[in-house]
Amino acid sequence: MKFKDIYEKAVKKGMELDPRGIDEVNKELGRVKKDYDDLKEKDKKTFDKDRLTNPYADSRMLYGNPEKDVKRILLGIDMEVAELLLADRLREKGKPVDLVIAHHPEGRAMANLYAVMDMQSGILLKYGVPVNVAEDIMDERIKEVERRLMAVNHTRTVDAARLLDIPFMCLHTPSDNAVTEYLQRIFDAKKPAYVSDIIDMLKEIPEYADAVMETTGPKVVCGSAGRKAGKVFVDMTGGTGGSKKAFEKLSQAGVGTIVGMHISDDHRKEAEKHHVNVVIAGHISSDTLGMNLLLDQVLTPDVEVIGASGFKRISRK
Ligand SMILES: [Zn+2]
Repeated sequence: MKFKDIYEKAVKKGMELDPRGIDEVNKELGRVKKDYDDLKEKDKKTFDKDRLTNPYADSRMLYGNPEKDVKRILLGIDMEVAELLLADRLREKGKPVDLVIAHHPEGRAMANLYAVMDMQSGILLKYGVPVNVAEDIMDERIKEVERRLMAVNHTRTVDAARLLDIPFMCLHTPSDNAVTEYLQRIFDAKKPAYVSDIIDMLKEIPEYADAVMETTGPKVVCGSAGRKAGKVFVDMTGGTGGSKKAFEKLSQAGVGTIVGMHISDDHRKEAEKHHVNVVIAGHISSDTLGMNLLLDQVLTPDVEVIGASGFKRISRK
């Protein structure tokens, strides 16, 4: 497959699996197009044109010829300078790597991570939080993340890719959409009665079963296994952790249990205060599941994937 075909197909699948629904995503793209058309000619030159077709600012081709033919990929959750050197060593050992894919954003996709967080208000709306409330609480949190990202040396890894001449890209939200859609579909269909049923359902999935062996399996961090699950909300996409204030609003909207990848202690305390059960499925295991689900829909069978940095390829095809 060509490098650009892998990227374009991954973004397209990510849009199809977006929890807001494809119509909302297309509306968002339409708004970006209108903003672009309204720009002065000199501002159009610096506009990131990927934004016209890709609604996920945290997923980009970061270095390399888009037409390059890809037969072998080195893929991991965090791919930084060390992993690019690993790709170069594999090349020396007679296993040439045509493309390195990171799940977590790098380069300008990292600098712009906050830009995908807007989608969280669309997701909160779906779970019954009024959109004006959702947008207002997210606004504050998005600005906080934007300020935090300003301090990051975001070009570091892309600079290494350029020096070693290794094509490089990151796929973040399309993969997080895939895991969110997959788990939400399971819970909606099987309707877990108790929080312990959620844990059991997760442990049946190979990526989480592997994590149990690594002592990082799913855990209840708020509430307890014996409590009723109520309405389950899988909260695994939209860039990074959302607003603490969302727990109060979700509780009022009737959500009983949130299933997430990870949680800060401040967020956990808020969830506790508002009586919401929280199950942490696991971070690297959820990211691995998301990437596996996405790759199943994107890659042709002739493309080999070597797992690194927390990722193990498990195909469901
Ligand atoms: Zn992650």
